[in-house]
Amino acid sequence: MKITDIRAVYPNYRQPLGGWRPYLWQIVVRVETDVGVTGYGYGGGGVAAVEVVNRHLRELLLDERCDSPADIERLWDKLYTASIPYGRGGIAIMALSGIDIALWDLLGRAERQPVYALLGGMSAPRIRAYASGDDAEWFAESGFTAHKVPFSRSVDASTFERAAAAAEESRRHLGADALLMFDCYMAWDAATTREMARTLAPYDIYWFEDVLTPDDLDGLAALRPQIKPILLAGGEHDFTHYRFADIARAGALDIWQPDVTWCGGITATRRIIAQAQEAGATVILHRGGEPWGLHVIAGTECEALGELVLGNRNRSHEQLWLDEPQPVDGYLTPSDAPGFGLRLNEALLD
Ligand SMILES: [Mg+2]
Repeated sequence: MKITDIRAVYPNYRQPLGGWRPYLWQIVVRVETDVGVTGYGYGGGGVAAVEVVNRHLRELLLDERCDSPADIERLWDKLYTASIPYGRGGIAIMALSGIDIALWDLLGRAERQPVYALLGGMSAPRIRAYASGDDAEWFAESGFTAHKVPFSRSVDASTFERAAAAAEESRRHLGADALLMFDCYMAWDAATTREMARTLAPYDIYWFEDVLTPDDLDGLAALRPQIKPILLAGGEHDFTHYRFADIARAGALDIWQPDVTWCGGITATRRIIAQAQEAGATVILHRGGEPWGLHVIAGTECEALGELVLGNRNRSHEQLWLDEPQPVDGYLTPSDAPGFGLRLNEALLD
C-alpha cells in the first residue's frame, strides 16, 4: 500500500495541564493509504513535534510504500537521516516515534494481525504490571505485586528517613515478595545514592531509577558497582539505538528503560533490545504497561514487566485511547486485535 497522507495533531485535553507531566506532551499521528487502511501512532514532543511531522517529515513519506517491517525500517532510517540537522534526539525523535508507531499500526491493520505478531510473538502473554505512584494501599487492593515509589523531592536532612518510611509503607501493603523500586528523577547525587542504598538495604529494593542525569554516563558507570545488589536503571530520556550504544560502551546502567513513544518508536526499541542482549543489559520499558509497550514485550526479548503510571486513587485522567488493556490481578494482556487494537477518542481531537 502507498502512503497518501500523514498528519500529527496535539489532542485538545480539557483538563488543565499544569505543566507537561499530566499528558507528557503526547501527540497523535494518523497515516492514510491508497487502500483505505489508516494507522494511528502516539508520539511525544507536543505542538513542536506536530510541526516537525506536518511541515517536514510528512513530505518525505508521501507516495512511499509500506508493505512489510522492512519497509518501516527503511522509512525510519530515511526520516532519521533527514532530521539529523535538528534531531538525533529530543522533540524530533519524539515526532518520529509517533510516525513509526502509526506505520506499525497500519501494517497490523492491513494484515489483520496484532503488532506483537508482526514482531515475532506467538500469542498474547500475561505480563506482570508494576504501579508507579504513591498509593501503596490502593495498589495492593488492586492486585499489584510490584510498585515503584516516586521520590524526587530535593534532598535534605529528613530525606533518608522519608525514603525508609516510603519503603516500609510499600512493604506493609504489598508484602515481602513484591518488587519494590525507587525513581528519584535525577534528584540525587552519587553520595546520596550510596547512602540511600545503605538506608534502604533492609527493604530489598530492585532498582534505583534516574539517579544523576542521563548525560553523566561515567558517573553512573562508577556508581553502578557501589550500590549492589540494587540495580541502576535509566534511559527514559535517551533516544535511539545510537545513544544506547553509548550507554552500553560506558557500562552505565543495569536496566535500560527506553520509552517506545519517545525513543524512536517500535523500530528503535527493537534495535535497542538487540543491543541490550549483546551488552548483557535488561530492557524494562518506560511506561511499558501501555499498549505500545505491551506489544513490544509480547513480540521481543524485552523483560516482561510493564509500568503503569497511576499516581494515586484520586487522580482522574481523560482517555485518549479507548480499549486500552486494564490490569487484572496485577497482570496485563495486549490486545490480539489488528494493529495495536485501539480506538481513538476522536472527541479529544476536535
Ligand atoms: Mg522514571
